[in-house]
Amino acid sequence: MRRKSGIIAAVAILVLFAILGGAVTQQRTILKNDVRLMLVKLKLMPNTGQSPELPIKHKPSDVPTPNAVYYRDGVIVLMYHEVTKTQTDPKALLASKFKEQLELMKANGFHWITMGQYRDFILHHAPVPDNAVLMTFDDGYESFYQDAYPLLQQYQVPATNFVIVNTIDNPKHPGIPKLNWKQIQEMHRHGVDFFNHTYDSHSYAYADAKHREIRALLAGPVYQGKADKESTAQFESRIYKDLLKAQVKLHEEVGNTYDVVAFPYGVFFGKYDQDLQEPGH
Ligand SMILES: [Zn+2]
Repeated sequence: MRRKSGIIAAVAILVLFAILGGAVTQQRTILKNDVRLMLVKLKLMPNTGQSPELPIKHKPSDVPTPNAVYYRDGVIVLMYHEVTKTQTDPKALLASKFKEQLELMKANGFHWITMGQYRDFILHHAPVPDNAVLMTFDDGYESFYQDAYPLLQQYQVPATNFVIVNTIDNPKHPGIPKLNWKQIQEMHRHGVDFFNHTYDSHSYAYADAKHREIRALLAGPVYQGKADKESTAQFESRIYKDLLKAQVKLHEEVGNTYDVVAFPYGVFFGKYDQDLQEPGH
């Protein structure tokens, strides 16, 4: 049954894409990597790299279908990165487009669920509404507070943001400006969850001595500016410490009572998605 649900979750993504048109191109790539790998890892779908055929037929139309059932007992997980009013980065999604997507989902009878509901569905097969959608955002950009959060409030959408904890409230960290804890706590009081996207391992390092191949920091042993590659034990210790540090800080700042990790670039190594437990364990 769980396997069937997972397959439906995976293929249901296609229905939403059909309805939203090509508007979610950035998420499509990430869904392929993150969601498919996650479903494979959870043994909810076979590792074929192919999307199974859609079990429920529904022809996309220009007329809203608020009462249609596209899928049951499954969840679409949408993953966004930057949503901004003024598009400085071509990879960012314009807030006006994002608003259109919310409007389309609402008009076509999709039901947004919380991470808590998704967790109970995955772990305990708790029921979810028909056409369930989980909205997730990665990397904790400050624009999330400025431009995406007001729309989430307007449409009463529960959402999750996966943050790189050491970049929060850290002006020294390079890259796109990130959220601060004050903004995070305010949004958390109004239905946004914040979970672990590593403490500070959202990058790559060399995987071979000749520096030809790079590897995501959570994907396996690397050369981190040293002459020798770290051992498997050093690698294990490094990622365990990183993920735990992020988890402890998130517990302190927003009071999370359970933990969810989004692995950067959709890659992870062996058993580590299962091994991370409560702080102190
Ligand atoms: Zn990321």
